[in-house]
Order: sequence, then C-alpha cells, then structure tokens
Amino acid sequence: MRFDTSILQLPEIFFKRVAPVPVRDPYLIRLNRPLAAELGLDLPEDQEKLAGLFSGNTHWSGSDPVALAYAGHQFGHFVPELGDGRAVLLGEVVTDQGERFDIQLKGAGQTPFSRNGDGRSPLGPVIREYVVSEAMHALGVPTTRALAMVGSGEEVIRETIQPGALFTRVAASHLRVGTFEYCASRGDSESVRRLADYVIDRHYPEVRTAANPYAALFEAVCHAQARLVARWMSVGFIHGVMNTDNTTLSGETIDFGPCAFMDAYDPTAVFSSIDHQGRYAYNNQPTIAQWNMACLGGCLLPLLHEKTDMAHAEGERILGTFAPLFKDAYEDGMCAKIGVDALDEKDFDMVRSLLRLMHADGVDFTLAFHRLTNDVQAFVQLFASGQAVESWLAVRESRLAEHTLSSDRSLAMMRQANPVFIPRNHRVEEAIRAAEDHDDFSLTHRLIEIVSHPYGSQPEHAEYMDPPRPEERVRQTFCGT
Ligand code: AMP
Ligand code: MG
Ligand code: MG
Repeated sequence: MRFDTSILQLPEIFFKRVAPVPVRDPYLIRLNRPLAAELGLDLPEDQEKLAGLFSGNTHWSGSDPVALAYAGHQFGHFVPELGDGRAVLLGEVVTDQGERFDIQLKGAGQTPFSRNGDGRSPLGPVIREYVVSEAMHALGVPTTRALAMVGSGEEVIRETIQPGALFTRVAASHLRVGTFEYCASRGDSESVRRLADYVIDRHYPEVRTAANPYAALFEAVCHAQARLVARWMSVGFIHGVMNTDNTTLSGETIDFGPCAFMDAYDPTAVFSSIDHQGRYAYNNQPTIAQWNMACLGGCLLPLLHEKTDMAHAEGERILGTFAPLFKDAYEDGMCAKIGVDALDEKDFDMVRSLLRLMHADGVDFTLAFHRLTNDVQAFVQLFASGQAVESWLAVRESRLAEHTLSSDRSLAMMRQANPVFIPRNHRVEEAIRAAEDHDDFSLTHRLIEIVSHPYGSQPEHAEYMDPPRPEERVRQTFCGT
C-alpha cells in the first residue's frame, strides 16, 4: 500500500502511535470496490484476507497507525481532551489525481484517548454510517465516505449486548475545529500555527497568497461550513450532534451518530435521543455552525493580528460573513427545489409559504418536492388544504412567467435538486434489525444500492420512496457509541 502520511510531520501533541487491537472472528460485510479503485488501493479478492485487513487483524504494509488528538465543545461544554478513542488512522493515500485521503478504522480497539470506553463499535451504528454517508455522497453533499464494514465476531456491551463491527472511513482529513481547540486551549500557539499551515497546504492552498493567509483560512472554513449546512437543509438532513469535534475543517460531513432525514417537514425536528434542548434541531443548524466557527475563530485569534483588539475585530468581521453566505446558499438551494432562480425576496417567499403549508399539513419533505417536479396533481393530493396549495401553485406559475427561465431549464433545476431515494429512518432501522437479529445483510445491501441513486427512477423499488406509515415512524435515533 502506498501510504504517505503527512500528518506525522505535525508536532507530536497531535497524535499517539497505536495499533488496532485484533478481533476474534472478523467477516466482511461489504467493501466499496469503486471507492477502493478511486483511491488506487490494491486489495486482495479473497474475503478472508479482506476481513483481516478491514478489521485491523492483518497489518497494512506501509501503515504507521496513529490515534489523533482533539478537544471539542459537546453540547456547548468544552472538553479539553477527546481524541480518537475508538478509531485508528491507518494512513493517507494520494490518488492518481493528486487528491489526498485519510483511511481510518473505526471500532479498532482502545487507544490512549479511550477514557472509559471499550474502543469498539456496535454493528447498528456501523451500518447507519455506511448507508447514510454513501447516500450523502450520492446526493452531492460533501461527506466522509464508507470504504468497508466488517463484523468482529465479538459482542459489545451497551444497554444491551450487540454484535460488534468495524467501519473503514475515508475522509479528506479527520482534522476538526476540535483539533485547533486541543492546542489552543493548552496555550500552545506554536502548534496552532503549525496546524493552520498544515490545513492551508492540505485543504486551502489557494489562501496562501492572501494578505493574511490565516484570516483567509478562517474565512474559507466558515464558507465551507455555511455551504455544507445549506446543502444539508436542502435535502432535509439533521446531523444531530454538531459538536465542534464533529465539525471538519475540510467542510465534509462527519459523524453519522444520531443523524436523520426528516420525513414530515418540521423546522423544529430533533431525532437525537440525547438532544433534550433541541440544540441541534433542523432549523438551528446554521446558528450552531456559526457558533462552531466562533470557536474556531477564538483559536485562530493570535494569528489574525498581533494586537488583540485588532484580532478580535478581524475575527468578528470574518464570522460576520457566515450568515449572508449561508442565506445565499440556502435560498439558492431551496429556490432550485421549486424550479426558480433566487433573484429577489419574492422568490424565496414562495419557498417560505410552501414550507408553511407543508408544516401545517405534516407533508413529507422529500416526497413533496419530488412530486412537484414530476406530478403536480399527486403533489396537491399530499396537502389537506387543497385550496391553499392550488393558490400557491398559481403564484409560482405567474412568477415563472416573469422569469426569463425556460420551463425546460426550470424542470432540469428541480430534477437536480429534488432527490427521492433517501435513507429514510425506518428503512435504516429495518436493515439494522435484520442484520442484528438474523445476520441478514440483504436489506442493508439493497438500501445502499437504492440510496446510491437518489435522483433516478427505480420503479422496482417504488416502496422506498414512501414515507413511513404511522406505526413505522422512527422518533428517536441513538449515538450507539
Ligand atoms: P462521538 O460521540 O462519536 O463524536 O465521540 C465522542 C468521543 O467519544 C470521541 O473522543 C470518541 O473517540 C469517544 N468514544 C465514543 N465511543 C467510544 C468507545 N466505545 N470507546 C472509546 N471512546 C469512545
Ligand atoms: Mg465524533
Ligand atoms: Mg459519533
């Protein structure tokens, strides 16, 4: 394997050398062959050999594995040391296109950051992360990817005894806001600068020529996060645990713990069983992302200006660009869903009034936009208040007439913006249950195939477009750590 692990050049406070702890009886559940090919990985065909590699039982040649250190604000409270407590970074690979990726085993046993944890992962959350991260990728949302999942042949003990598993994650990097918080909170300003230089080189080389590259870095991360959250909102995604240790510097979605896609539209929707205050509710996501960026800004202050008051002013200025950038990205994304360009307030007003109608009638978010694209009569039938939705359609018609946008172009926009095969919670739960209770992975495989084509038509899987029936509705999701 051609590992080229650049992170080892950072000061040693950022990682600890570790080795995956072998598991009893690993078996391969799924390997993402196309992704392995993109990464240029030279993998064996043999299932047992693959299980050995993706469980960490077999040494990956060229790998110098580490656990990364990071801190983080969890639900608003600062924890000075978190780190990879159950993940091992095998190394970085560089593709033929020159793109660099981390390959990480999750659930690979205890590390110096495990605290009281067992370093393991139950099967359920591994399946959820595989399904949802690959769905996000297919939806065009920046995200970490799923390379493989294996069962460990061991049990893990949580509230119940569950089968254990390992997940292999691929990421542009695993650096987080929490990585900066780790060194900044220790007053280690030299490490903050080294990390900032590293992040610039790895993710934002274009800011190197800016008057102050560190200010430009802060701005670039703010914008990547603003665009990311706008994309989440446009597909009805609720991350569920937007702590600063789960906020990447690259702008990729990471950590699919208690995440969920909304069914019925509800701006206050919360699924996570541990989010009692609704801190990470659907509609709160942009505010929280900005809060997380303020945490990042605090770490970078000494690099923004040598005078403290000037540094603060610069930090505030940059942070202030988050909200307008988010608003633009969000409004563009939502207007595309109704087939109009966001030219002025009137356009987004139409989105607002449609969302109000959907909320009032408990209409399914994904299905509504899909039907608006493909079958307006079926769209109208989703609403209890037929009259109100008919008048909304009339307003949209007249607005479309005012636009120079052709109806073909409008339809093309909607087709690109309105997926229909998303990993609905009840489908994810159903797949997990079959795997846990009967070692039956057929639903998991099927779901992954289906959500890998979110925009297409798949008549043979039409039932996967449907919202849950009342008795199928999943109200809570669990981190399952
Ligand atoms: P998460 O909730 O997945 O973002 O994890 C928060 C922190 O808890 C990270 O530092 C994880 O490494 C750590 N952690 C979660 N589960 C375990 C576990 N089973 N064993 C050790 N550390 C864990
Ligand atoms: Mg996490
Ligand atoms: Mg997690």
